[in-house]
Amino acid sequence: MLTRSVLRKAPRAFSPFLQKRNLALHEYISHDILRKFGVDVPRGAPARSGEEAEKVARDLKVTDLVVKAQVLAGGRGKGQFDSGLRGGVRPVYDATEARMFAEQMIGHKLITRQTGPAGKICNVVYVCERKFIRKEYYFAILMDRENQCPMIVASDQGGVDIETVAAENPSAIIKRSLPNSPNLDPHIAEELVDKLGFSSSSKPKAVDAIVKLYKVFNDCDATQVEINPLAETTDHKVLCMDAKLNFDDNAEFRHSNIFVLRDISQEDPDEARAAKVGLNFIKLDGNIGCLVNGAGLAMATMDIIKLHGGEPANFLDVGGNANAEAIREAFSLITNDPKTTAIFVNIFGGIVRCDVIAKGLISVVSALNLNIPIICRLQGTNQGAAKEVINNSGLRIFSFDDLDEAAKKACRFSRVVEMAREADVNVSFELPL
Ligand code: ADP
Ligand code: MG
Repeated sequence: MLTRSVLRKAPRAFSPFLQKRNLALHEYISHDILRKFGVDVPRGAPARSGEEAEKVARDLKVTDLVVKAQVLAGGRGKGQFDSGLRGGVRPVYDATEARMFAEQMIGHKLITRQTGPAGKICNVVYVCERKFIRKEYYFAILMDRENQCPMIVASDQGGVDIETVAAENPSAIIKRSLPNSPNLDPHIAEELVDKLGFSSSSKPKAVDAIVKLYKVFNDCDATQVEINPLAETTDHKVLCMDAKLNFDDNAEFRHSNIFVLRDISQEDPDEARAAKVGLNFIKLDGNIGCLVNGAGLAMATMDIIKLHGGEPANFLDVGGNANAEAIREAFSLITNDPKTTAIFVNIFGGIVRCDVIAKGLISVVSALNLNIPIICRLQGTNQGAAKEVINNSGLRIFSFDDLDEAAKKACRFSRVVEMAREADVNVSFELPL
């Protein structure tokens, strides 16, 4: 799966926040979508048990097959299962072998360079025909948000990790911005196919595949159509061996048939829970929990925390409706993460009044009986009343007007808690600090 480092010049398109908000689909579903658009992919079908895998393999009536773990991560081929099995993409030679590998994959976690050590559960395998590849290419269409247009990223060094190619041999990556149009001009595809070096007999098929992949990107409101490898086979066919398709969540209402195929077993349970209640929540590596309304303010809050030497534990946008229920859910999600050492609440009271938020905050904090400091900046309608309510609450909520000062305090308190935890001592924050 392509990440930010490949397109440094278009960082917004690769913001982890924006990517994670997208719907990602399993390869076997993505292949079905490609088939509907007339794009060539290997024949195959999903299986949820060893027995099913054996049946699919028999029905395919070929003896060269591959069993592919369906987990939403890149690098499956080089991954390892917690069962000890090496490789999430295994060539097999008959239906019995397909069953054997499927049984070793299903119900186990696959760890790849993209999943982290926790891995991702494999509940489904994709049994498909094994094709003999002459050359592997990398091909992707993405939404370049900076230039507000689609963009092709391609390379003749496909199959392998594209990030490594980008790091070691950046000139091997071709980037091409595209005009915003419902169809791709075939001349653009021809130009690209020439540059990539497809054999002359496969060129028209490669052009056809690229034009159709663009149609998928446009018609399905995709944010990413990544084919790695786009393969030229020994008999000069052009096939999409792998497919990593992402879709814009904002277009869900137009593609409910696609969005029902979301597999939440592949998502972080906290993030899935947040999405259900309308919170935009993404876990990060730091320890300062952030509770903010508005994505822009949330980004700015994370920036200012980093500026003062802190590390945000999450991105959390409670949205326009920062009511007590949303705040309760947000606090519960933030405090679920044991590494949280401070919580920074930064809310702008526009339509929602600050004193109402303050009351919600107090009821949640007192109910949760938290022992980590809460730094709070409520600005906007009724901010004076909000401050008074907080100061009179007797809770360890530290209220500030100035963003810079609040962020500095959040970082300082967080460090104190961190040090206290390291030394295994209890620290109590008393006003004023
Ligand atoms: P991932 O990118 O997650 O590792 P891929 O689907 O790209 O998974 O598979 C890894 C490699 O396995 C591909 O680069 C390709 O060489 C090979 N491969 C995948 N599917 C097939 C197939 N149907 N036939 C032959 N080789 C395949
Ligand atoms: Mg791949």
